[in-house]
Amino acid sequence: MRFSGKVVLVTGAASGIGLATARRFLNEGARVALVDRDAGALPAAAAQLGGDTLQLVCDVGVEEDVAGAVGRLLAHFGRLDVVVNNAGLMVFKPIEALSGADWMKVLQVDLLGAFYFIKQAFLHMAHGGAIVNLSSIHAVATEVNVAPYAAAKAALLSLTRSAALEGAPKGIRVNAVVPGAVDTPMLWNNPHVASGDEHLDSGEVGKAGDVAAAVAFLASGDATFIQGASLLVDGGRLCR
Ligand code: NAD
Repeated sequence: MRFSGKVVLVTGAASGIGLATARRFLNEGARVALVDRDAGALPAAAAQLGGDTLQLVCDVGVEEDVAGAVGRLLAHFGRLDVVVNNAGLMVFKPIEALSGADWMKVLQVDLLGAFYFIKQAFLHMAHGGAIVNLSSIHAVATEVNVAPYAAAKAALLSLTRSAALEGAPKGIRVNAVVPGAVDTPMLWNNPHVASGDEHLDSGEVGKAGDVAAAVAFLASGDATFIQGASLLVDGGRLCR
């Protein structure tokens, strides 16, 4: 039980990789705060998971929401050991159709959302801890029509390294997981994947639990010398 006695916060926990990650930490002994802006989906997620959870409705892109959620977590559990910045969204448009508002919608959640939780963790992780950020293969090798998402996920890798440097003296490790295609609602909502334009070979679509296992590894005592790293979890897709 690598996370006995630990309190873990997972954003975007009502679906996909976030839900699988919450399950993984619960199975390894943690108490888990489930953060999502989808207030309707959180109770079903908590019921499905069982275990010791706390539901926190919160838009990760709003700093006051994030501070409020962490305050409620501390009031309930009394400590914070692991933060998983998993909430994310995509906008699908060619560059000539993109507006500044489209960019801000993506950056607000995929980049600033992670920053707001890193800031709160640095303020409140009294015993040290670990932060894992969910980047994407799009940070490294992208597709057409997802420029804001690719840029946000690349910037998140840079933020991971900055936060790793500043977190180290506080005993906080900060790392990133870089998933390839993973079987979740987000993947099949991608019009390029749904139409077959973005071809995925068999074996190149992972399960949410595959990513959750990598997240748990980076957050665990098995990874104490891993700091500022980006772990590719793509079934070998980038080896092509
Ligand atoms: P998903 O769409 O299944 O789940 C995302 C969850 O985040 C949802 O529950 C949603 O309500 C929540 N969310 C979205 N915006 C939010 C906000 N502002 N505040 C709080 N919650 C919010 O997606 P997923 O596939 O599980 O993706 C999880 C993470 O993994 C994302 O960061 C995504 O970019 C990344 N990722 C996914 C894939 C993939 O193929 N599925 C690949 C690479 C990276």
